[in-house]
Amino acid sequence: MNDSQGKVTLVGAGPGDPELLTLKAVKALRAATVVLVDDLVSPDIVALAPQGARIVHVGKRGGCKSTPQAFIERLMVMAAREGENVVRLKGGDPFIFGRGGEEVEHLREAGVHVEVVNGITSGLAAVTALGVPLTHREHAQGVVFVTGHAQRGGEPPDWRALAEAAHQARLTLVIYMGVSGAQQIQDQLLAGLPARTPAAVVQRATMPDQREAITTLGELAATIAREQMTSPAVIVVGDVIRGVAAVRQEEPRVRAA
Ligand code: SAH
Repeated sequence: MNDSQGKVTLVGAGPGDPELLTLKAVKALRAATVVLVDDLVSPDIVALAPQGARIVHVGKRGGCKSTPQAFIERLMVMAAREGENVVRLKGGDPFIFGRGGEEVEHLREAGVHVEVVNGITSGLAAVTALGVPLTHREHAQGVVFVTGHAQRGGEPPDWRALAEAAHQARLTLVIYMGVSGAQQIQDQLLAGLPARTPAAVVQRATMPDQREAITTLGELAATIAREQMTSPAVIVVGDVIRGVAAVRQEEPRVRAA
């Protein structure tokens, strides 16, 4: 590593609302000369980069034209070696289902200085957007963040084991990337959790067009189909969702106060 080298900062852009960025994220963006942007990141956040910064959109949503991961990694290494101050802007938190781990590994192997700035992960923000907590002394003693998709070349999550653990240990399940496979996830979770377990789907949490559906595990896939909920959305399964009804009843009084 020589002194003229730049660096790469993986920055969590949070769930959508620019006000949920950390001060560290804003600082890193303001100092960037090159910004690589994932497609879930709002333009208002990208606009925090300096006027002269080079902005590269490298989104890779399912079904859309994608930028291969290897290309993104090469681009970061090249730019850093040219002395650029690279910000890799990723939705939510870079280390939650964002391939941030792979990117950091690749950069370190290439001898590039790399830093990571946490962001608010969408699973956390989605539940807060419903007005209920992820853990609760009476309803949930912990949280599981789990992907609804099998990892590349790997096995899907063991839903039955997760359901049993959630039931016995009273855990909230927060499922990312689960909307398209909801029927299968529902069927398998029902092996360990009652059909009446409260569930919610939050689409585009904290964005101006956020949508929510409150349902039960037994009705999860039917609700997603009926309400036409699509990605990006998180599915939440657990007793903490029971509190949403109370929040909604309270709301008019709170607003009127
Ligand atoms: N690193 C990201 C997750 C990337 S995986 C994070 O920490 O949030 C992409 C998945 O995240 C989507 O399929 C969806 O399940 C979830 N997601 C991202 N942004 C979201 C949002 N604003 N609202 C709901 N779900 C979101």
